[in-house]
Amino acid sequence: MIGTAMIEVDAAVIGGGVVGCAIARELAGYQVGVALLEAGRDVGEGTSKANTAILHTGFDATPGSLESELVARGYSLLSGYSALAGIPVERTGAVLVARTGADLGALPGLRERAVKNGYDRCELVGADAVYAMAPALAPGVLGGLTVPDESIICPWTTTLAFATEAKQRGARLLFGHRVTAVRVEPEATVLVTAAGPIRARWVVNAAGLHGDAVDELYGFRRFTVIPRRGELLVFDKLARPLADKIILPVPSAAGKGVLVSPTIYGNVLLGPTAENLTDPGDTSTSAQGLEFLLARGRAIMPSLLSEEVTACYAGLRAATDRPDYLVEIDRARRYLLLGGIRSTGLTASMALAERARVLLGDAGLALTPRDDLPEPPRMPNIGEARPRPYQSDARIAADPDYGTIVCFCERVSRGEIRDALASPVPPCDLDGLRRRTRTGMGRCQGFYCRAEVSGLLRQAAR
Ligand SMILES: Cc1cc2nc3c(=O)[nH]c(=O)nc-3n(C[C@H](O)[C@H](O)[C@H](O)COP(=O)(O)OP(=O)(O)OC[C@H]3O[C@@H](n4cnc5c(N)ncnc54)[C@H](O)[C@@H]3O)c2cc1C
Repeated sequence: MIGTAMIEVDAAVIGGGVVGCAIARELAGYQVGVALLEAGRDVGEGTSKANTAILHTGFDATPGSLESELVARGYSLLSGYSALAGIPVERTGAVLVARTGADLGALPGLRERAVKNGYDRCELVGADAVYAMAPALAPGVLGGLTVPDESIICPWTTTLAFATEAKQRGARLLFGHRVTAVRVEPEATVLVTAAGPIRARWVVNAAGLHGDAVDELYGFRRFTVIPRRGELLVFDKLARPLADKIILPVPSAAGKGVLVSPTIYGNVLLGPTAENLTDPGDTSTSAQGLEFLLARGRAIMPSLLSEEVTACYAGLRAATDRPDYLVEIDRARRYLLLGGIRSTGLTASMALAERARVLLGDAGLALTPRDDLPEPPRMPNIGEARPRPYQSDARIAADPDYGTIVCFCERVSRGEIRDALASPVPPCDLDGLRRRTRTGMGRCQGFYCRAEVSGLLRQAAR
């Protein structure tokens, strides 16, 4: 039998979600051999693909917590990086809507909390101002609190941009590499995976919902992930004029509550629910969850319910039995955990990566900056705020494939599908192609374009 040499790297990152990809990108900016080990066949297939897609200012975090610090820092880092890499972001702003005396009484405290979190741009406003911002809100609003910098972002492009840049910087993206055991040796750790062992001097656990299980491979029992399901309804694009801003409820002891938000793709979201489950793989939606959302939607914005629902989905937050993120380094065994990255990890991803790099450097990973870094990738635009290829005469004249529409609901051209299939981190199935181009996510949910798109995918796989 011919043996293949074991892959050896300075740093292995376990988990190809937005957090793991951000860390792989960050570390690959130094003279460090990096591998990203992902159990699935693509990046961003876990919680990172199914969230509410808000770039949070962190105004409502718990002051003094690590989450508060990293969400604020992440907001600033990701805002800057989005502009460079072409990740769709819209600074829509948000308004918290008070409907009871208790809600109204809570607003000044929330503004103070925002200031403690380093965000001083919230303003208390009266009911008239709230209705001026969101005329479709149900009667009964008593007042509000504005959060002008709360934004919406494309979570798919974010993860893909990090993974693409990590790869362009030389990191190895290893799919189908579920880590099932670790063997810590004096100089390095052998990670046993479904696709063979990898030897890494330093290991980073960014395994999201399985972070506790990977931590246990090191013998730790320091936290338990409690998968907290959030179900959401996606309304048709015709609903978008109803919600130009993110409409937030006033948070209570029961949680952050249900919001109405525009999406970067031109739809409107209603959700999420919050329900603790035991199965970290259960992303099914439920009749009760959807009924609950419809009832909440009726109370918040009745006219929204006259619009058509295009899709529903559920994501699982990696909540834990701890009140904060859990970021800890085991210097002796060269192992870093980023656990409990629950409902804000998209926003905090780059700050978590920066923190990971600092902790690893302080613990002994030699981090010499590189002077040969490629430019950040310029990602294809799949947001509505900037022109898409089908809207550009110049692009169509230069390449007619951008004028040949394949997915009519989302106006995705053959050229964009071709580009995605030939990209540095290509999709391996229809869902991956949807996250890169929007194909199949519109009104018909792929009914009209699936055959043609599947054919293109098959051709690319040959
Ligand atoms: C309903 C909902 C709404 C949310 N809204 C927002 C929001 O508006 N704004 C925001 O900032 N955040 C939001 N979040 C949170 C955000 O989505 C998450 O914090 C973030 O996606 C977590 O990313 P991750 O990389 O830690 O985890 P994941 O994306 O789950 O990635 C972990 C990866 O690790 C892999 N893995 C697991 N075990 C192993 C193993 N043993 N070996 C190899 N690979 C492994 C998995 O396959 C997975 O791909 C929301 C979350 C939910 C559920």
